[in-house]
Amino acid sequence: MDPLSQDDIRSSFVNCSKGEAKGVTLPARVETIQWADLEFLGWRDPKAPGRAYLVLWHDGTPVGLSLRATTPPTSSLRSSMCGFCMTVHGTSDIAMFSARRAGAAGKAGNTLGTYLCRDLSCCLYVRRKLRPEVPQPNETLSVEDRIARLETNVHRFVADVLAKV
Ligand SMILES: [Zn+2]
Repeated sequence: MDPLSQDDIRSSFVNCSKGEAKGVTLPARVETIQWADLEFLGWRDPKAPGRAYLVLWHDGTPVGLSLRATTPPTSSLRSSMCGFCMTVHGTSDIAMFSARRAGAAGKAGNTLGTYLCRDLSCCLYVRRKLRPEVPQPNETLSVEDRIARLETNVHRFVADVLAKV
């Protein structure tokens, strides 16, 4: 993806208040991020463990989502596959992320949720740059196709959050 500055990121959030956006802990050292290896930038807030963020270029504009992360008890976990990159994890490496919808729907408490890689490092998992030793059963796609699938999934989620309902 094309690089984003700290100001781009700070002003990109679409589903939280300006006050909340100000409180976001930005990734340190944005200038060292390897943008070419990313379809989106995702991180957990180091100061607020239940918060996470996702920023990407969507229809030519930086769009940021504020997410709530919860770790469901293993017994109630319905899936250990990431909804973005389709990586299959041990249950401790998957978390439930929910996003308030943008606009009036979100203010009314309407959210969208999905199971994702706990560390939001989907872009590295599809490239097998993280934990390449973990076997991925039934995965026959090439890296390029996995990247395309990840892009489709993440943009669909962002479009759903932005959709007027
Ligand atoms: Zn993932």
